[in-house]
Amino acid sequence: MSNIYYKRINSQTSVEEIQKLSKELLTTLIEKENITLQKTIPLKVHFGEKGNTTFIKSANYLGIIDFLKERAIASSYMETSVLYGGQRFKSDVHLQTALAHGFNQLPIIFADGEQGEEYVEVSINQKHFKSCKIGSKFLDYQQLIVISHFKGHQLAGFGGAIKQLSMGHASKGGKLAMHMGIKPHIINRKCVQCYACQKRCNEAAITIGKKSFIDHDKCVGCGACVSACPEKAISIFTLEGIVNGLLKGNDFREKIVEYAYAA
Ligand code: SF4
Ligand code: SF4
Repeated sequence: MSNIYYKRINSQTSVEEIQKLSKELLTTLIEKENITLQKTIPLKVHFGEKGNTTFIKSANYLGIIDFLKERAIASSYMETSVLYGGQRFKSDVHLQTALAHGFNQLPIIFADGEQGEEYVEVSINQKHFKSCKIGSKFLDYQQLIVISHFKGHQLAGFGGAIKQLSMGHASKGGKLAMHMGIKPHIINRKCVQCYACQKRCNEAAITIGKKSFIDHDKCVGCGACVSACPEKAISIFTLEGIVNGLLKGNDFREKIVEYAYAA
């Protein structure tokens, strides 16, 4: 069982106070747990969706960044891309979102590459997963500071630290694997038959034509085609998938926990 150290804050707590408290908290944690700090420790963060305010604002990280600077520890912000379309789908637009939200104090590293395709299979041998697809650049470091925000998820319920470890560290294929083994499908009305997805698919699972489709017997759910499609014509969300997800919510939560373990 891990020890938990905490400081109380609320909506009235100033940014300066949060910076001070976070430094104190880290100091206490490191002393009490007798942790030897490495020379480089990235911060695993969440940059927030464009137009969304429900993320930890960058100013709140300054205490932690100061803490590291005072000890001459190099750092960076680390994040992974998401499964769905939008401004966090690929590293180039994700970077713009991060900078627009004020995350300019440290270099930014996307742990799962440009499109969520870079991962390492981490062996865990658990109930749902023998191995998990974790963003490969996370493995360059021996220590991370993982900063999580409280959130809700349609299938997982409330999420925080465990979800940030699991979804937050998984490559696109890993995120796909957690989503109930939902395999992507092509939305034909959006498909312009450019073949970009087919070129990316190592399993030869994609047929492009008047009625493009993915052969789910061949598809391994790596998620590469989802990123490759310039038209956002490949989706993981089907009615069947959502119903299955709701019916098997416990499985989904267990999968999240297994990925957190892998991370
Ligand atoms: S998820 Fe991966 S294996 Fe499945 S169709 Fe897409 S690229 Fe191919
Ligand atoms: S990448 Fe998208 S638009 Fe191009 S063929 Fe595949 S599904 Fe169609």
